Amino acid sequence: MKIKTRFAPSPTGYLHVGGARTALYSWLFTRHAGGEFVLRIEDTDLERSTQDAIDAIMDGMNWLNLDWDEGPYFQTKRFDRYNAVIDEMLEQGTAYKCYCSKERLEALRETQMENGEKPRYDGHCRDSQCSHAADEPHVVRFRNPQEGSVIFDDKIRGPIEFSNQELDDLIIRRTDGAPTYNFCVVVDDWDMEITHVIRGEDHINNTPRQINILKALGAPVPEYAHVSMILGDDGKKLSKRHGAVGVMQYRDDGYLPQALLNYLVRLGWSHGDQEIFSIDEMKALFTLEAINKSASAFNTEKLQWLNHHYINHMPAEEVAVYLAWHIEQQGIETRNGPELKDIVKLLGERCKTLKEMAESCHYFYQDFSEFDADAAKKHLRPVARQPLEAVRAKLAAITDWTPGNVHDAIQGTADELGVGMGKVGMPLRVAVTGVGQSPGMDVTVQAIGQARSLKRIDQALAYIAEREAQA
Ligand code: GLU
Repeated sequence: MKIKTRFAPSPTGYLHVGGARTALYSWLFTRHAGGEFVLRIEDTDLERSTQDAIDAIMDGMNWLNLDWDEGPYFQTKRFDRYNAVIDEMLEQGTAYKCYCSKERLEALRETQMENGEKPRYDGHCRDSQCSHAADEPHVVRFRNPQEGSVIFDDKIRGPIEFSNQELDDLIIRRTDGAPTYNFCVVVDDWDMEITHVIRGEDHINNTPRQINILKALGAPVPEYAHVSMILGDDGKKLSKRHGAVGVMQYRDDGYLPQALLNYLVRLGWSHGDQEIFSIDEMKALFTLEAINKSASAFNTEKLQWLNHHYINHMPAEEVAVYLAWHIEQQGIETRNGPELKDIVKLLGERCKTLKEMAESCHYFYQDFSEFDADAAKKHLRPVARQPLEAVRAKLAAITDWTPGNVHDAIQGTADELGVGMGKVGMPLRVAVTGVGQSPGMDVTVQAIGQARSLKRIDQALAYIAEREAQA
């Protein structure tokens, strides 16, 4: 049997981390088995579905590189098919028309509530012999079995049983002729030959209803796996308050998709105590059985730790592709400076996110006319003039501009002046970067370039002269 899974988001908001994790689990499961992955947009709720949300879902899936083999299907484009199935069910008697008025249903509900019963349809029209005019308003209901129970073996939670007495006759077509959500899901899973439905635990109550309809249609019943919720680090359901936002926000904040995927796979799934998984490892090792039954708590620090790991362990050329987007956001022109892969190597250790990296690499590309006030106050003092002049002379004399030769120039200056390296390095750092923190001076100065470094040292010397004059 060919494994086939689907991710079926409702486009009523962003693709959030919970949805992305469900998508990842479905995708991994099917990739592990060499099966197929379907993307289906469940846009039957016309009022709440938006094109922006559809775009955000596609952007998120693309950014995470969760590719699909079929789709995207849109439920709103399949209404004819759903209605054809409903018409067949009416003919076969597995569904029936219900003419109960709103008033009758409301009164029924009230009485049931008063008697402490769960509100449910009483089956009034189920076996009614009353004749009705063809154009009389009605809904169509599924004729749910009244005896026995529905049992399914949830791949994560084990056997789950619902008594059919708990399930009333679900409306599958509204008065306006629109098929309802649970019904569309059933027809889709059937038509798309889905073998495994992996979705959020908030759908558990839909599963027995869907199974009953599938059985009535003579359709195969897929396996089900309901994934637990994600909680915030305070134990409450993850929400915007916890910074849980659309997946693309994580891109904007400087996370690598590889890091987010690694984070999400571990959020509720484990393989021993391994923390780092390449995509290929995830595909090779993923099983539904190893998904955790209990809810998982989101932990931003761990995500940052993973991101730092990926920034420093993925090939710098690959990280550079993602960094380029952030550099563009910063409006930095990189043509006359180091290659981005070199920036990744230079700044990777110091940065948890690519946003941070893009924000702290300006000096490799852009000249500046002002120094960071604190750094300048501390390091561009009159005593720094001599070491700066001396190191400038040595740097100017270098014919082969390598980090080693830059290092020798700094070391040589310190030795000649009989001072520690810091007395030369720190003024030089502030002079060439404008700030008090940077990677090692040899690699930094080398990457900034010879002419540019000399020009910036001159600018720092002018600053010191001005300071001297004011003293
Ligand atoms: N459209 C549903 C949701 O976004 C998913 C339904 C399903 O996977 O069956 O929650």
